[in-house]
Amino acid sequence: MNFRLTQPAILIDINPLNELAGVNNGAGERLRVGALTRYRNLERDPATAQHLPLIAEALPHIAHPQIRNRGTIGGNLAHADPASEMPAIVLTLGGRLRAQSAKGERWIDAADFFVGALTTALEPDEMLMEVELPKAPPRSGACFMEMSRRRGDFAIIGVACTVRLDDHGRCAEARIGLCNAGDGPVFATQAARSLAGRAIGKNEIAEAAKLVQSEIDPGGSIHASKEFQRHLAGVLTMRALTKAGERARGSA
Ligand SMILES: Cc1cc2nc3c(=O)[nH]c(=O)nc-3n(C[C@H](O)[C@H](O)[C@H](O)COP(=O)(O)OP(=O)(O)OC[C@H]3O[C@@H](n4cnc5c(N)ncnc54)[C@H](O)[C@@H]3O)c2cc1C
Repeated sequence: MNFRLTQPAILIDINPLNELAGVNNGAGERLRVGALTRYRNLERDPATAQHLPLIAEALPHIAHPQIRNRGTIGGNLAHADPASEMPAIVLTLGGRLRAQSAKGERWIDAADFFVGALTTALEPDEMLMEVELPKAPPRSGACFMEMSRRRGDFAIIGVACTVRLDDHGRCAEARIGLCNAGDGPVFATQAARSLAGRAIGKNEIAEAAKLVQSEIDPGGSIHASKEFQRHLAGVLTMRALTKAGERARGSA
């Protein structure tokens, strides 16, 4: 509404639904974030830094403190802006989302939730209740980087990645997601697969960055041509993978 994208005839205020706000950090390997959790609360919850380092690093890039005081993770994911950080991160982490209507509830994998620009798999009568995310496993590292023209602006390109190492220090699993690189958040499947079972060295990272450039389809804008976005995606992927690899080695 702030961007004058919509002028709804009816507004439903979900602010009083306190049970939808907060981080539920149970003993298991996954934690849940309620749809009405504000960015600010997520930033300040100790569980975020401890278990969701990718989100902790990305949060300061989302708009300005005024927006983060009010914006909710559920509103952000349901809005599904392709340039937005959080959809790319939830996709990168392999999260899943709980939708509910008067008829019942269902869980939707992030890979199926984001359908296109400003479009999700939510039905008109469904509401997003919470998102479930895996906690960072041992021997893993994460990194989020983005380039924007000014601090707080939407990203020209953003890259999120995680790396998990095996007992020999090789890559057991890598995951790479991008924002503002296509119609919705992009998961760079081939680039991520190319690293599995290999050392995370300079050559492997450069190869993965090249694959990322071939897997994205950025739209271009007055701020950056498609070619420049593609170039940035390669550079940021190399930097972010290098950093995630270092962090994984540090935690091992
Ligand atoms: C000036 C400005 C700068 C911004 N910069 C960035 C940025 O850099 N990066 C970024 O990621 N975002 C940015 N945003 C977007 C912001 O982060 C919020 O994601 C966005 O404003 C949504 O806010 P909200 O949570 O209040 O949701 P709302 O605005 O209330 O809702 C957004 C949409 O989602 C629907 N919705 C909300 N909650 C639910 C739910 N639980 N279930 C189903 N549907 C729901 C609403 O009906 C609406 O269609 C910016 C916004 C502004 C105004």
